[in-house]
Amino acid sequence: MALDALRCKECKTEYPLEALYVCERCFGPLEVVYSHDRIDDIDAARRRIMAGPQNIWRYAEFLPVASPPAPSLRASSRSGLPAGCTPLIRADRLAERLGLREVWVKNDAANPTHSFKDRVVAVAMARARELGFDVLACASTGNLANSVAANAAAAGLESYVFIPADLEEQKVLATGIYGTNLVKVNGNYDDVNRLCTELSGEYPWAFVNVNMRPYYAEGSKTLAYETAEQLGWKTPDRIVAPIASGSLFTKVARGFEEWLELGLIDGSIPTMNGAQAEGCSPVATAFAAGLDVCRPVKPNTIAKSLAIGNPADGPYALDLARQTGGSIDMVNDDEIRAGIRLLAETTGIFTETAGGTTAAVLAKLAQRKEIDPDECVVLYITGEGLKTLDAVRGSFESHQIEPSLAAFEATLPQSVRA
Ligand SMILES: *Cc1c(COP(=O)(O)O)cnc(C)c1O
Ligand SMILES: [Zn+2]
Repeated sequence: MALDALRCKECKTEYPLEALYVCERCFGPLEVVYSHDRIDDIDAARRRIMAGPQNIWRYAEFLPVASPPAPSLRASSRSGLPAGCTPLIRADRLAERLGLREVWVKNDAANPTHSFKDRVVAVAMARARELGFDVLACASTGNLANSVAANAAAAGLESYVFIPADLEEQKVLATGIYGTNLVKVNGNYDDVNRLCTELSGEYPWAFVNVNMRPYYAEGSKTLAYETAEQLGWKTPDRIVAPIASGSLFTKVARGFEEWLELGLIDGSIPTMNGAQAEGCSPVATAFAAGLDVCRPVKPNTIAKSLAIGNPADGPYALDLARQTGGSIDMVNDDEIRAGIRLLAETTGIFTETAGGTTAAVLAKLAQRKEIDPDECVVLYITGEGLKTLDAVRGSFESHQIEPSLAAFEATLPQSVRA
């Protein structure tokens, strides 16, 4: 396959495909560059992908791994927890509620550890093993720790996961159970990230989102590939997606761009709408102010998985939203709770606070009439509601009754009583 090099996003200096992530010359971030062969027979290429495994490795030729493994080994040798191929669901009742016609929900809570992070971890872990690492690590806002711990367990690797000490209990429990070395740091995500950057210089570990970040980031492209394949090899008109570091947001666009350049799909780069929580909105704030860079903030929001105060890919996310005619919006904690409920009531999908943020931003865009009713809109739901139960506590009523007909009927409104 056509894996070429790592290249600095700023000064374009090239580096070998190793555990490197920052440019020695200008401190810019490194990313993987490919030199794909031209695809002459589009139908054959599509058929080849469709015949692949039901997970992200059907796209192996577009991912930063040295060589595709034998088909029978694909799932097990790359990752014992097959990520991807999550449902893309036509959400007509949600669309109707918002005055739109064609809304799809990409439910990435259907991944093995219930968030989109299984995609990026699978790719980072595959590359880490190729580079000879046998310890996996990460700085996490919750879901990444969950995924690293589970994937390391499945692969028989040791792992160290670092999280802010105040994470949701559900996420902490669902991580520790895998037998990882779970380190709670007294500080926010940005403190955890700083510590892990320092540790990555001291220990020979693959920190999936630090020294393996260029490979990790490529995993998000599979969200775009899957969406295009599921829509019948075309791009949607608009994507609404959450932003923490901005990696998912920017790499999804890159995935569409790659396939458009290769002629594998029809359409154009979708309008890109980013979603942040008001309590941690460095990118949305910079967007509103017309700035090119983000000013770091101290997070205070129920959307803890998006709580990155100093987002590494913030400037690139700003650029992308502007270039595609999109925007980056923020919603407050009450709007996030309403977003969780809106999605649950209209689609049967229960998402975590990050998904509530994204759904609430879609509702806001629809309300502002920024979406043409005829557009094909895809909403990326990246995490599972059972991980952030506190966010919905007290948001609905229930009845507790004695086990009798009379007691039950007393709870019903007069109009429905038998
Ligand atoms: C990590 C995460 C994201 C996006 O993170 P980026 O750093 O912007 O790539 C979105 N949703 C959930 C639930 C996450 O855990
Ligand atoms: Zn550089």
